[in-house]
Amino acid sequence: MILILFGPPGAGKGTQAKLISDYAKIQHISTGDILRQHVKEGSAIGLKAKAYMDKGELVPDELVTDMLSDYLQRPETNAKKGFILDGFPRTRSQAQALDALLKKLGLKVSAALYFDATKDVIIKRLSGRRVCKQCGCIFHIVNMPPQREMLCDKCGSGLIQRDDDKEETIIRRLEVYHKQSTPVLRYYEKQNILRRVNGDLEADEVFKIVKRDIGQLWQGAAKHDNDSC
Ligand code: AMP
Repeated sequence: MILILFGPPGAGKGTQAKLISDYAKIQHISTGDILRQHVKEGSAIGLKAKAYMDKGELVPDELVTDMLSDYLQRPETNAKKGFILDGFPRTRSQAQALDALLKKLGLKVSAALYFDATKDVIIKRLSGRRVCKQCGCIFHIVNMPPQREMLCDKCGSGLIQRDDDKEETIIRRLEVYHKQSTPVLRYYEKQNILRRVNGDLEADEVFKIVKRDIGQLWQGAAKHDNDSC
C-alpha cells in the first residue's frame, strides 16, 4: 500500500503518518525529515536546501524529486513493501514525477489523504511545537508537554523550536502551500483517489476517521502481502 499524506503544515499529517505507520506496520517516509537530516549532516543536498527551508519556501522540485527517487530506489528502503509518503508531492510536477518513478518500480499510489485545517488552529499547533534535537520526537507546550521542561521524554535530550515553526515563517509556509499545492489536490481528485480529512479535530479523533476510511485499503494490502509470501 502506498499512501500519500498531504495538506498544509500543521494540519496533523506528520502525527497521523506516525500513527498509521505503527498501526499498519508500514514505513513512514517524510521528505521534510530526509531534508533535515541532510542539513544536519551538511551534505551537498542539505547545503542547497537549507536557505529555502529556513525561509519557509519549497526546495526546488528537481532537488527534492531526485533526493526522493534515490531514497526509494535504495535496496534497504524496500519500497515494494509499501510506504506512507508525508510531505511529498507538494507541486503538480512532483506528483507527476512520483507517478513516473513508481511506474518504473512497478508500483502505484493507493490513496491520497488530504488533511485540511483552519489557519488559527495551524498557527497554535505549529508555534507551540517542540522537537527533540536528538530523536525527532514531537511535543507541544500546551497539548502534549514533556514531563521535564524542554527535555525529551524518550531520550532525555533537549527540545528545540524548529526555525520554520516561528509565527512569521508559518504564515509564509501557509501562503506557499496554498499556491503550490492546490493543483496536487486536483491531480488526485481527478484520479479518484483523494480522501479529505478534517485536520481541525484532535489527533485521536482524526485517527479513528482515517482508520475507518482506509480500512479496506489495509485489508487489501495485507491480503496482497500474504499472497506474495
Ligand atoms: P515539512 O517537515 O514537511 O513541513 O518540510 C519542511 C520543509 O522542507 C518545507 O518547508 C520545505 O522547505 C522542505 N520540503 C519538504 N518536502 C518538500 C517537497 N516535497 N518539496 C519542496 N520542499 C519540501
